[in-house]
Order: sequence, then structure tokens, then C-alpha cells
Amino acid sequence: WAKVDGKNRWAAYDPERNAREIARITLSTAMPAALEREEFYVDYQPIVSLADGKLLGVEALVRWTHPEFGRLGPDRFIGLAEETGLIVPLGRWVLETSCRQAMKWRAMGASPTVNVNLAARQVAEPGLVDEIAGIIEDVGIPPTSLQLELTESAIMGTTGEPLEALRRLVDLGVRIAIDDFGTGYSNLAYLRHLPVHSLKIAGSFVEGLRAGQLESVDAQIVTALVSLAHTLRLDVIAEGVETSEQADLLRRIGADSAQGWLYAKPGPPEDVERWLT
Ligand code: C2E
Ligand code: MG
Ligand code: MG
Ligand code: MG
Repeated sequence: WAKVDGKNRWAAYDPERNAREIARITLSTAMPAALEREEFYVDYQPIVSLADGKLLGVEALVRWTHPEFGRLGPDRFIGLAEETGLIVPLGRWVLETSCRQAMKWRAMGASPTVNVNLAARQVAEPGLVDEIAGIIEDVGIPPTSLQLELTESAIMGTTGEPLEALRRLVDLGVRIAIDDFGTGYSNLAYLRHLPVHSLKIAGSFVEGLRAGQLESVDAQIVTALVSLAHTLRLDVIAEGVETSEQADLLRRIGADSAQGWLYAKPGPPEDVERWLT
């Protein structure tokens, strides 16, 4: 089949492409009702201290139980939600849901930080700060227990009002993390002027870490990222840690905390509760 570009989308009949397009449209139109019917839910993945293995926080990761297609991961629908704008109410729901969950854990005597992903589109919404301030107040969560994750590309392109919004959030006490750090292009000089507390090193770098190989290119990249982060007094979270060899290297390199299948897969709140005792 001839490759068709966006402009001539229907110029040639391509059944696979057609099916994909229909699936996209189907999902995207189903999303508003799905939000009302509470078909979305949040899984939580532990973030643990590399020094002592203690639970420091969790990342909230949204999922969708579609009545027909079953469980869908965020990669299937977050992009669509950004396109349609549904990310704004969906993101608000994730935020409120995970802050309420964090309060349940607090009631059990634990106080993990809850990390919530924020799409660029949400940061561009004029009402974001008031909305988050409102959730914090309603739910009663200490603002310092909430960390918002923005991808490198989302945060690096942020100027003007959205940047001001991030500063106001930081003034409230909320923490900001740069997600998937190292995969986008960062203006390192600019980084020091951003209101940021943590860097999350992308799993793609962690994946390349091999037992004992501190000299490998990936290990040296991670070392450089950690050193940069610490120079800027930022906390370092390594993502996608799957093996104890990777954890060991990360510990030696000096990363602060880690998240990944080695510790736990994302799961329901009850899975996290095992970590609280
Ligand atoms: P992310 O924020 O970088 O989240 C980390 C992703 O890595 C998650 O994928 C998680 O399940 C996966 N992961 C965790 N440990 C490992 C590991 O050891 N190995 C590997 N290979 N993967 C691991 P998930 O849940 O599919 O989420 C994908 C992305 O969707 C997230 O990437 C985030 O960008 C986005 N996302 C998820 N929830 C939300 C949300 O509520 N709002 C927004 N705006 N984006 C979200
Ligand atoms: Mg994230
Ligand atoms: Mg990430
Ligand atoms: Mg990601």
C-alpha cells in the first residue's frame, strides 16, 4: 500500500490504517462517558530508597477498563485525551483520586509521597493552580506529599503563564519532578531556573546498566545525569529498575531512589499496603 500522509489520509485505502483510525476515534469518543461511568482506575507503583529499600512514595498510573476492549494502558488513551482536551477532567480525577488514596495511607501511619503525571495540556490550563490548591484543601493532604511529574519536553517548553503556574504550585509546597529525564532535549542552563525538585532518569538508560560495568556508556550517562542533578540539588529517581544488578549500580552511582519491576509492578492500593508495615 502506498504511504499516505496526514493531508491525504483517505487517498489510498489501507485497511490496517483504517482500522487503527477507527479504533482511535472509537476510544476518543467513548472517553467522556467512561469518565462518568468510572471506567478509569489508578494503579500505584512504589518508589523506594536505594539506601535502605524503604518506601518513599508511589507513582499514580491511570488505566481504563473498557467494556469491550478490556484493560487499556495509558499509552493507548493519554495521547487521545490530550488531543480532545479530556485530559483536563481526567487528569483532575487522577489527581483527586490519588490524593484521597494517599490520605488513606496516612491514616494507616505511613506517608508516602504521591507522584502524579501532568500533561502539558493541563499545565497550559489557566485554572490549574486553583484547582490543585482546591484539591489539596478538600482532601487535606500536605502539599509536600504531592509531587507532579512533567516530561522534559513539557517542562522545557514552558514559559510565561504556565511557568508562573508551576512557580505558584511550588510556593504552595507542591513538588515538581521532570519525568523521563534524558530522553528529550534539555537546555541544561535553563534547568537551574526551573522550579523543580526531582529528576526521574528514563528507564531507557537504566535498561543499559549491566552488572559491574561502571565504565559502560549507559553507566557513564547515568553517572553524568546524577551528578548534574545533585549539583542542582535535585533528588534523583531511577525509573524502570528491573534487576538487582541495576539497583546495585545505581546505588554506587549515587541515585537516591528507584522504581521498577524489581520492587513492584504498578498495582491496586492493597499492593502498596504490604509496604507500609
Ligand atoms: P511514566 O510516567 O514514565 O511512567 C512509568 C511507566 O513505566 C509506567 O508505564 C510503568 O508501568 C512503567 N514501568 C514501571 N516499572 C517498569 C520496569 O521495571 N520496566 C518497564 N519496562 N516499565 C516499567 P504505564 O503505566 O504504561 O504508563 C505509561 C505512561 O503514561 C507514563 O509514563 C505517563 O507518561 C503516562 N501516564 C500514566 N498515567 C498518567 C496520568 O494520570 N496522566 C498523564 N498525563 N499521563 C499518564
Ligand atoms: Mg511518570
Ligand atoms: Mg517516566
Ligand atoms: Mg513515559
